Amino acid sequence: MKKDDCIFCKIAAGEIPSNTIYEDSEFRVILDLGPASTGHALILPKNHYDDVCTLDRDLAAKVLPLAARIGEAMKKSLGCTGFNLVQNNGRSAGQTVFHFHVHVIPRYEDGPDMVSWTPGKPTAEEMAQTAEKIRSALV
Ligand code: AMP
Ligand code: ZN
Repeated sequence: MKKDDCIFCKIAAGEIPSNTIYEDSEFRVILDLGPASTGHALILPKNHYDDVCTLDRDLAAKVLPLAARIGEAMKKSLGCTGFNLVQNNGRSAGQTVFHFHVHVIPRYEDGPDMVSWTPGKPTAEEMAQTAEKIRSALV
């Protein structure tokens, strides 16, 4: 369940040192080396999954509760007032390490803008067509 050339497999296994803030038999949570804000953390499963599409479902069910615990600890300890959960799938979505992970990004009052976009203005017909395309592809 590990991938030989995967850096996050090695970090999760403790073979490469990291600033670990939480560990159990299934996950390691580390500080991101290039933090978007102070405390930016990554939740890594110890087993390898490329992305959310291949993530084991039982494991997936544990990810959000763990993210909430980490976020609460950040609010208590770092003085942030909120946090973003970010999870990238695929190169076009900004994924650079192809081992599933969730970013927990503390947000501070008056901190910089991030995780934002310019809202589009699709027509009602375009919206309905888009919704139908996705509905028809659901498995
Ligand atoms: P993503 O772009 O969603 O794939 O996120 C990958 C994240 O991993 C980036 O935020 C990097 O800063 C972070 N990262 C890459 N290598 C390491 C490492 N060795 N230790 C900690 N964080 C890392
Ligand atoms: Zn891996």
